[in-house]
Amino acid sequence: MTIAKKYSSLPMVNYKTHYKCHKCGTPSYQRVIERDASGALRPSGAYRCAGCRSIFESLRAWWEPKRNVDFQPSAMHGA
Ligand SMILES: [Zn+2]
Repeated sequence: MTIAKKYSSLPMVNYKTHYKCHKCGTPSYQRVIERDASGALRPSGAYRCAGCRSIFESLRAWWEPKRNVDFQPSAMHGA
């Protein structure tokens, strides 16, 4: 008799999407959970690919191959 080892006690949940990781093609991800100052576990706002374990700052960054960065560093020089 074998016991399925698919279940773990980790508080993470895999979310299935119709998108796929642009790195490894896995169609599911996890939210990154971090402990905040009060000790509570909260989603950090980042995502971890369930396949290759890479961390992405947004879902879009997960499924969308990196293109030209549209963030303008010049915005940091405003006085
Ligand atoms: Zn991946």
